[in-house]
Amino acid sequence: MRCFPIYVFAIGVLISSCGVSEQNPFDSDWDTPFSTPPFDKIKTKHYKPAMLKGIEHEKQDIQAIVNNPKEPTFENTIEALDYSGEYLARVRNIFNNMTGSMSSEEMRAIDQEMAPVLSAHRDDILLNEPLFGRVKSVWNHKEELSLTSEQLKLLDETYRLFVRNGANLDETEKPELRTINEELSVLSVRFGDNILKENNRFELVIDHEKDLAGLPGAVVSAAAETAKERGHEGKWVFTIHKPSLIPFLQYSDKRDLREKMFTAYIMKGNHGDELDNNRICSRMASLRVKKAKLLGYETHAHFILEENMAKNPENVYELLNQLWEPALKRAKSEAKALQAMIDEEGGNFALQPWDWWYYAEKVKKAKYDLDEEMLRPYFQLENVRQGVFDLAAKLWGLRFVKRNDISKYHEDVEVFEVQDEDRTLIGVLYTDYFPRASKQGGAWMSNFREQYKKAGTNIRPIIVNVGNFSKPTADKPALLSLEEVKTLFHEFGHALHGLLSQCSYIRLSGTNVPRDYVELPSQFMEHWALTPEIIRSYARNHQTNEPIPDELIEKIRNASLFNQGFETTELLAAMFLDMDWHTLSDETEHEPIAFDKNSMDRIHLIPEIVVRYRSPYFAHIFSGGYSAGYYSYIWSEVLDSDAFQAFKEAGLFNKDLAMSYRKNILESGSTEDPMFLYKRFRGAPPKIDALLEKRGLI
Ligand SMILES: [Zn+2]
Repeated sequence: MRCFPIYVFAIGVLISSCGVSEQNPFDSDWDTPFSTPPFDKIKTKHYKPAMLKGIEHEKQDIQAIVNNPKEPTFENTIEALDYSGEYLARVRNIFNNMTGSMSSEEMRAIDQEMAPVLSAHRDDILLNEPLFGRVKSVWNHKEELSLTSEQLKLLDETYRLFVRNGANLDETEKPELRTINEELSVLSVRFGDNILKENNRFELVIDHEKDLAGLPGAVVSAAAETAKERGHEGKWVFTIHKPSLIPFLQYSDKRDLREKMFTAYIMKGNHGDELDNNRICSRMASLRVKKAKLLGYETHAHFILEENMAKNPENVYELLNQLWEPALKRAKSEAKALQAMIDEEGGNFALQPWDWWYYAEKVKKAKYDLDEEMLRPYFQLENVRQGVFDLAAKLWGLRFVKRNDISKYHEDVEVFEVQDEDRTLIGVLYTDYFPRASKQGGAWMSNFREQYKKAGTNIRPIIVNVGNFSKPTADKPALLSLEEVKTLFHEFGHALHGLLSQCSYIRLSGTNVPRDYVELPSQFMEHWALTPEIIRSYARNHQTNEPIPDELIEKIRNASLFNQGFETTELLAAMFLDMDWHTLSDETEHEPIAFDKNSMDRIHLIPEIVVRYRSPYFAHIFSGGYSAGYYSYIWSEVLDSDAFQAFKEAGLFNKDLAMSYRKNILESGSTEDPMFLYKRFRGAPPKIDALLEKRGLI
């Protein structure tokens, strides 16, 4: 359908009065640059009918495979299956992105309504016996087929996908599994919705200027903007969204208000009201045990980890335990230093969790003469983004060309065409960096279209990076914190993994890799953010355009191990909590807050530190697909630290090494076993040493 931007409404009326039904944009090919989604035409009302139609299309695709009178072959079964459901994938890719970043009551209602339908549809495919019969037949004969290693990998993964989804279950067990899956999918959507609402519900309204004591100017003006948006003009509003919460905890001199903010944050999903997530956590954990047992696994973690590099829970606990002792030791000595600062100031109280950020900031200032806010003027968002683009140019020859002719879903979005060294198209990158009420918290990378090859065409990907970074204010551009700079580099690393992919099949392409391997490309990029050569290139004062002084870079480097005990401990504690939930082997439902406490007591977490996510808002594991997988971040960190070590050894901009990294890691998806790919890049298995050094644990 052609686009009529100015007369959309008038034409809509005209069309309906003529009795011609309006076309759903998902029904036609997109006549847009690089076939990017026509966001100007896609309306909320289009999703549900398009999803239902997509389901029908995919059913037909599957039926065609099943009804093929020819003997099952790799091409007519395995490959055909990978190509099936293109229409549905297109709708879901857009819809899933929009529920994350452009949510509304209406979108959430569709999501809740469609989640069980889609889950049932998936089960229809994965529990389709004749289809599995064909897959199994190809798999049984794989030795006789002359397949490439990528095809063999696809065959193995497809076969395992069916088995892991119950294809080998009997007729009474199959419906049982379906029921569990449907309930899990509904609960997981509700969990996420509750958190979104909780994040928006709490606000700290400050009426008097005296209650702003200690807060830097930029933080105060951001709070004034938030107040304006929320109808409290002339006042200041702080929320429990991280860009508002963290600076408040770092700088507010008002101890009682810090406590109020911190408590609001850790009480998310735990108020015994309609947004309470406790029951959802316990029910989901129990259902996951039931499902694991049904499929023949000891626990949910065994079920999940079989597919990952870690392979089993023992290997995960082994790594976590190896790190826990030195991290906790470091955290305890940090707590002592903070308490000493409190005592020195004559504060007659014991350090509490809501004091940690505040005193850490003070100790940092005293010890390293570094104040986070000293850095912010150098981290203008556009420059940081340009910095990461320039880095990709230097390492891999990539070019990022801004496109103003591509439809966007929100005015904050910017679109870039990504070109290779020889100007051929790599893909399209959208950036969407600022918080809004319709967006979930955190930062992520996602796809509007994944890379794959079909009928001789290499279909290039469309990727989005989403963040909730500090916004521009009336008098200042968007100025990031150091943490936000690292996050931007991180998500860009995921984007590169999606963009540079050169795989044949969707199932194996881009970021479709094991969870404990997927953070390698993202965390690898974080190492570069503070490398002097790179930080000098992007960190310029937004007013004077002066580059960041060497002295400040030196200070950042000196302070890089500061607070690592706290950060590592807080993170590892959440990894233990996730593993503890998912190594349960009976279906008894546990009360989450008590469960959290037991779990933390077992590892002797100190009371001054609260686990990074308490269960009622641990979205990664209850709504984000990271169950028995949150450890992945540290597992990947062993890899990314070791990978960066390779660059340090060979010279940071060593072209051959950069190209080997691109080929083996960024382009290869999971076309081979990840450890095989890693070793091909590194020439050896990863060592833990670089990680220990980076976190100051040796
Ligand atoms: Zn990540």
